[in-house]
Amino acid sequence: MAKKQFKAESKRLLDLMINSIYTNKEIFLREIISNASDASDKLHYLSLTDELAREKMGELSIKVTVDKENRILTVTDKGIGMTKEELENNLGTICKSGSLQFKEDMSEDEEKDAVNIIGQFGVGFYSAFMVADTLTVNSLSYKDDTAYSWTSVGADGYTIKECDKQTVGTEIVMHIKEDTQDIKYSDYLDTYTLKRLIKTYSDYIRYPIKMDIEKTKEEGEGENKTTITYIEEETINSMVPVWKKSKSEQTEEETNRFYKDSFFDFEDPLFTISVSAEGVVSYKALLYIPAKTPYDYYTKEYEKGLKLYSSGVMIMEKCSDLVPEHFRFVKGVVDSDDLSLNISREMLQQDAGLKTIAKNIDKKIHSELKKALAGDREKYEKFWKAFGIQLKYGAVAQYGIYKDQLKDLLLFWSSSQGKLITIEDYIKTMPEDQKHIYYACGETVQKINSLPQAELVKAKGYDMLCLTDEVDEFLMNVLREENGKDYCSINSDNADLLDEVDEKKAEQTAEENKELLTFIKDALSIEDVVISKKLKTHPVCLSAKGGVTLEMEKYFASLPGEDKEKVKAQRVLELNAEHPVFNALTKAYGDDKEKAKTMAEVLYAQALLIAGLPIDNPSDYAEKVCSLF
Ligand code: ADP
Repeated sequence: MAKKQFKAESKRLLDLMINSIYTNKEIFLREIISNASDASDKLHYLSLTDELAREKMGELSIKVTVDKENRILTVTDKGIGMTKEELENNLGTICKSGSLQFKEDMSEDEEKDAVNIIGQFGVGFYSAFMVADTLTVNSLSYKDDTAYSWTSVGADGYTIKECDKQTVGTEIVMHIKEDTQDIKYSDYLDTYTLKRLIKTYSDYIRYPIKMDIEKTKEEGEGENKTTITYIEEETINSMVPVWKKSKSEQTEEETNRFYKDSFFDFEDPLFTISVSAEGVVSYKALLYIPAKTPYDYYTKEYEKGLKLYSSGVMIMEKCSDLVPEHFRFVKGVVDSDDLSLNISREMLQQDAGLKTIAKNIDKKIHSELKKALAGDREKYEKFWKAFGIQLKYGAVAQYGIYKDQLKDLLLFWSSSQGKLITIEDYIKTMPEDQKHIYYACGETVQKINSLPQAELVKAKGYDMLCLTDEVDEFLMNVLREENGKDYCSINSDNADLLDEVDEKKAEQTAEENKELLTFIKDALSIEDVVISKKLKTHPVCLSAKGGVTLEMEKYFASLPGEDKEKVKAQRVLELNAEHPVFNALTKAYGDDKEKAKTMAEVLYAQALLIAGLPIDNPSDYAEKVCSLF
């Protein structure tokens, strides 16, 4: 029989796995048992609607057996089984799940990579190659009459042939490697080690995990007393899923481990939220917020959703209706006996019970975050670093229908306090005469703080929110006002930062230099050139007329696609009449128009740079600067 090759991309990964020095080899058992449990779940779920599945299903359990002599460890389930095609498809490709991209980047440190892959994707089945040199999978699918056997001795490839297996389900037969100087693989043939591993990693599996345990007992009296050894089948796991336990029974170690095992994270979660609700709909939930942004969080591969169980049966791997978009980083499990099992997934989405649970979960997450914000700022800021931007997008989404719900969770950088603050914090420190909540957008806090316009705000003793995310300007538009104070950009004409005397003076200067201003406007072909009312020490700055701000232009320019050129701010160059540069400009305008034009171009380029916008031709700019000396 011809040996089949693993798909090319699988092969290398498999090599890594087999030769991995990954210290946590023992997790292979958890992975194999978890597959057995999933296969049992699947058959159970099918049996609710499928006659054939119901007929074929026996009492679901998982058996772990050891043959020390032949170094064989076997895990047997009575789950759904695999047909020949399924064996081929499921076990012939490693890492189907969007992990290939990740793998491309990983040539540097191969050992570390293997660890990463195991952790991030739970390569599951293949982790058995860390402890076994030959893997055989015997399987009889519930919908088939013939059983098949899949065998592989590693990266080489695999074979599939018919085999004799009478009961529906799958048997994973692992030939355990010989001991080496460093690693005692024989441990995985030791009953006590295996018992410990099952207890540690698979205690919450819902099906009994059974082992044959050797026991002894005394029989007879006095001289006739003999010790008899016999074998008894024992269920090793407690079978109570961690989320079903009451909060006081759940240990942090246990909930953390469940999180890491189920959601493929290395790190403990930042938040663990345990919910036990009784009422119209009763349910239990165990929710988590990761400590870091998952690597694929902002890709389209990332799917939000919670695992949904009903009456102990997993009915959906990722039920996205259970978490709102703005909390899409939340992972976890929901278990309710009040959801009907026999309805389709489409119907389930309309289910009133499900909607109630979703609403409660939304509230619960919100209140947990709020609690941390008030009581544990450090933890909250860690959360904010990972997912703050998601909350901002959540507040902006759908024209702000969730803004009132989310705004008290938002943080912004305060210019005067030099730290992250809430809107409430900002309002609290506002002097009485302050009419607006000031903000400025830019690339970095430092750049914002050195914006020419920022001087005015600071001079008045007002605080300013420094906004560095693309979504921020939209967010300000959506939030609009707080406590009767509107959000106002420091660039805005309504900013009320100007001195009346200064304003008059600027208007007068503008009148006197009307001709010069028109000359520059024409030379630069921009919307307008004005005498600035807001500049103090800088010679120039850029602002915008009309609805499109410079920040919006930048945002649209960063988007892919052809429309990006269409959104352009109407640019206005503002000149500081108090600055020596302005005197030089008026002088040149009188003496040498060509020089005045060059000066205007240089100043405009400067204004663009300060505003964080690109200049068309940097070398031309450099030449012009030199030509002025
Ligand atoms: P994962 O479980 O993450 O999908 P695995 O490599 O562990 O990845 O398994 C690949 C696939 O093989 C599973 O998705 C499942 O379809 C199938 N499989 C593995 N073990 C079993 C089993 N015991 N019974 C039925 N199918 C199984």
